[in-house]
Amino acid sequence: MKAFYLALLWICAFGGSIQPAMAAKVLGVRSYRAPDYTRLVFDLDAPLQYQLENRFDPHRLVISLKQATLVGKLDKLSLTGTPITAINSKKAGEHDLQLELALNGQVEPRSFTLAKNEQYSDRLVIDLYDVVLKPNGTADTDYIDSITAITNSIDKGGKRDIVVAVSAGHGGDDPGAIGFKRLQEKQVTMAISREVAALIDKQPGYSAVLVRDGDYYIGLRQHMKIAHDHHADLFIEIHADAADNKSARGATVYALSTRGATNEQARRLADKENSADLIGGVGSGSYDSNDPVLASVLLDLSMNASVGTSLEIGHTLTKSLDPVARLHSRNVEQAAFVVLKSADIPSLLVESGYITNPEDAQNLDSPAWRKQFAGALVDGITHWFGNSPPHGTLIAWQKDHDKAPAKPVFKQHKIAHGETLSDIASTYSVSLEVIRTANQLKSDNIKTGQVLKIPAS
Ligand SMILES: [Zn+2]
Repeated sequence: MKAFYLALLWICAFGGSIQPAMAAKVLGVRSYRAPDYTRLVFDLDAPLQYQLENRFDPHRLVISLKQATLVGKLDKLSLTGTPITAINSKKAGEHDLQLELALNGQVEPRSFTLAKNEQYSDRLVIDLYDVVLKPNGTADTDYIDSITAITNSIDKGGKRDIVVAVSAGHGGDDPGAIGFKRLQEKQVTMAISREVAALIDKQPGYSAVLVRDGDYYIGLRQHMKIAHDHHADLFIEIHADAADNKSARGATVYALSTRGATNEQARRLADKENSADLIGGVGSGSYDSNDPVLASVLLDLSMNASVGTSLEIGHTLTKSLDPVARLHSRNVEQAAFVVLKSADIPSLLVESGYITNPEDAQNLDSPAWRKQFAGALVDGITHWFGNSPPHGTLIAWQKDHDKAPAKPVFKQHKIAHGETLSDIASTYSVSLEVIRTANQLKSDNIKTGQVLKIPAS
């Protein structure tokens, strides 16, 4: 059980030295709800010192900001789905500011600061972790994780599902690339990921895990840990590309490289995606380098067997995407993406198109196009695993027992007025005999409106 947090030391938002007495301004605040915590992000015009005090009876969190004034508004903050019921501010002493969050229950607060960068000014981030009560009434924030792990390890009699972890790039304070008509990459990646996950869940013998399931930020290393916790057989992260050259367009599939990038563009892309933690914000609680599970998940460069498998799957996906999406590259490109570093899970990053290109942006923003794109990805995934199913899965069992579910190999054709059987045969490039057999036709007399099964040519 984790001890309740009570910070009574002033925490410096930078370097540890004390700034001269100059008031920092709190410019505004945003909130994001993740499955197990609520994040508050305070925008500041300068670094400051702060302290947190978790108070009980009633539950509340007091945030004291040294030498600070409030200029932004707190009343616009969305509190829906969060444990915060109200947020109040008052001056404390002559120069300090005190914010009080009224809470509807116990939370475990963690906090950190982020130095200003190209997108943001200095920020103070406060994460309020939900405290789950175990059946014996004690609090344990690790409880949900352990339940999930147990549920996932339940043996399905050697016929478990193939698990695909689908990760929507960016989120929360990290919008990703901003594209044509201000379209945000984090929204596109979430929408495509939801489509992919829904389609995977529809396939017998497969199940999907959404690594991110809402508008919040997950640290890059944490993506793979979530996939690992769910015993994923494949990790696939969705992104959308951006370029100064507005005519650049098309999708690209990437795998990890342990030896430098396949081209300069791939290297630059990996550098950009790898810097997401600085924008999205990663607290000390989200990634623990001493975590033995995580250490075993992260890539040991000598163990790059999964990179070879990733490349194979990547080639299958590229082929499957080719008929439905314009491809920027027909090769599976490679670079040192932190998010793909896993020793034991084949991992791919799919740039679904250029959000900065008007046509691509229109596609990325279209639910119909996203469904088609997701369908092609899932076809590629099931095609590859159908041939190389992991041991102990339903798909492996079906393959061993020659019971692979027959893919629908028929198209349907409704006969139009005046159409003959040979017209239809030539339209679909199949022989007359094939149509006769498939439909058990005794003669070539057909009726308008009749529906024929057309075997795939
Ligand atoms: Zn991205």
